[in-house]
Amino acid sequence: MTDIPESHPRYASLVARERVTEGVKRGFTSCQGLIAQGRGECFDYLLGERTTYSAEAATKAAAALLLLAERPALSVNGNVAALVPEEIVALANALAIPLEVNLFHRSEERVKKIAELLLEKGAKEVMGEHPDASVPGLEHARALATRGGIYDADVVLIPLEDGDRCEALTAMGKKVIAIDLNPLSRTARKATVSIVDNILRAVPHLTDQVRQLSALPRTDLERMVQEYDNEKVLRDAVQEIQDHLNRQFSCTCTHRRRGAESTISLADK
Ligand code: ATP
Repeated sequence: MTDIPESHPRYASLVARERVTEGVKRGFTSCQGLIAQGRGECFDYLLGERTTYSAEAATKAAAALLLLAERPALSVNGNVAALVPEEIVALANALAIPLEVNLFHRSEERVKKIAELLLEKGAKEVMGEHPDASVPGLEHARALATRGGIYDADVVLIPLEDGDRCEALTAMGKKVIAIDLNPLSRTARKATVSIVDNILRAVPHLTDQVRQLSALPRTDLERMVQEYDNEKVLRDAVQEIQDHLNRQFSCTCTHRRRGAESTISLADK
């Protein structure tokens, strides 16, 4: 990989680009995955490349939901494998649950490569190479799922997923946790819990929460899930973007108007 100096102001973003590009070169990420990463980066920029309060709340609710689940499953696609292979394996191992490879642009070769990568990173069980069921409402390749994995799960984590699949899984009665930087995406709006955060920050954070909350009694976890309001969290995420932009604009004006006593912000307009 290219040597990127850690002092570079866009270090994390450049490392992520390198990882996705490497994923394409090694054959487990699709070319379309590069474009999906670009869309995500744009929203991360608008959020200020930080974990917001709303993402924090969603991550806690997601951890509670995973701990309460009877048969949780984690879905892995080419971008997830490229960006957070060790971290997604650590999450699966913390919960002692399987990972299932599921690809929008499915090829048997890519599924195999991702499964091998996850096993190499310490995964105990990786499904997806031999799907034996179909998610209703999706066309053939995207519908493929595995019994004992995503097909039978009551709670599914779908990082960087498209809206149709999220909607189809919800229609099966599953509780769906999305990780998606775009609070306006169909996935974010259809999911039960939407973590609007970069997967690079979200997955390790979710694993920490799983470890911390596992000490709580079930009744506390149930209360956390009941009190969670996904629509409010998405509204808050949009507000956090607006607030961040207002602050940026206000700073820019202060710099430009050297010596000026007041600053101009969008709120003044
Ligand atoms: P939808 O169908 O839900 O409206 P979409 O058509 O934008 O979404 P895709 O093109 O499949 O879906 O993109 C996947 C989603 O993943 C995008 O919403 C993008 O913002 C998000 N995304 C991409 N990279 C990251 C990342 N590193 N972390 C978190 N989210 C990301």
